[in-house]
Amino acid sequence: MTAAPGTTVMSVAEAEAFAMRILRANGLAEHQAGPIARAMAAAEASDCRSHGLYRLIGYVGSLRSGRVSAAAQPRLERVAGSFLRVDGDNGFAPAAHAAGVAALIDAAQHNGIAALALTNCYHYSALWHDLDPIVDAGLACWAFTVGQCIVAPHGGNRRLMGTNPIAFGWPRAGQRPFVFDFATSAVARGEIELMGRAGKALPPGWAIDAAGEPTLDAAQALAGALLPFGGHKGAALSMMVELIAGPLIGEPTSRAAAALDNGDGGPPLGGELLIAMSPEVFTSGLASDWHQQAEAFFAQAREQPGVRLPSDRRHDARRRSEESGVGVPDMLLQELAGLSLCT
Ligand code: NDP
Repeated sequence: MTAAPGTTVMSVAEAEAFAMRILRANGLAEHQAGPIARAMAAAEASDCRSHGLYRLIGYVGSLRSGRVSAAAQPRLERVAGSFLRVDGDNGFAPAAHAAGVAALIDAAQHNGIAALALTNCYHYSALWHDLDPIVDAGLACWAFTVGQCIVAPHGGNRRLMGTNPIAFGWPRAGQRPFVFDFATSAVARGEIELMGRAGKALPPGWAIDAAGEPTLDAAQALAGALLPFGGHKGAALSMMVELIAGPLIGEPTSRAAAALDNGDGGPPLGGELLIAMSPEVFTSGLASDWHQQAEAFFAQAREQPGVRLPSDRRHDARRRSEESGVGVPDMLLQELAGLSLCT
């Protein structure tokens, strides 16, 4: 890849190593730092920049403020049947996920369906990265997490809910999996932050200001509230996420988590619920072929001009980046390099 003006090209491995250096320099234990650095490098490679290296600023903010435990040791517990829970020990969510994902896969493959709750941890990574190993193991999977409290309910004028993403993955033999993953807000909060940094105006319908009036200004939106996508429908899905990734698994709603936040810019306290399902087990004893049926469905979708599947763009970007690297803005790299200096 030729570097665009003002950018530096890194290999995906270099991006991961860069993130590791900064996290280590800020005292984060290896088993916590590794999953974060891998998720960030994967986000850079997949051209999902709002969850890439830029997030180091927030992670380091929470380490320096002491809100998140740098040496947290996540603990996996089989609560009942195929319901598993990881207590994140007040650490970051990627390490909690790493501690539980193999057991979730095993439980779903044996029992047909299994759920994993990540609790007592701080989350703001992209959900598709959490789904990837589960879908690669031949399972369909849902993931839900409560995001930062900044979304107004439909018809409301101030924040009540998180950006509350929902992700779903479907395995495809010999093909890239079908995965969708989006915030239930009109856009992810990180995207607003990046648009603000770039001095870009927001599209209409994304946000309201602190007085509840529509705004196109990123700073005013961050001081006010984002709107749900799809009006009352997105708002209802967002409320569902508040419930199933909050009270259902013993975690706070986004508003309760916000009350505990110290403003260090890092991830909010909040759990994640993963539900994995085995198509093999669900269809055992039946004459139907789940794989063939699904592939016929995807082929019918692609027959229509202009249709692409969710995750096509991400998979294409990933392949390109593995070959030619990722271009990271120099200004961001300089800012991030400053984070490795002790304060
Ligand atoms: P986007 O709106 O960018 O994309 C959402 C999904 O839609 C992707 O799966 C994308 O696939 C797909 N998609 C986009 N355009 C099309 C199209 N034309 N046809 C078919 N599919 C399409 O997502 P958001 O900005 O809402 O969220 C970004 C990320 O932020 C997510 O990964 C989410 O998990 C994360 N997030 C995390 C939070 C946290 O607290 N942990 C909070 C909120 C968000 P593709 O990738 O291939 O383009």
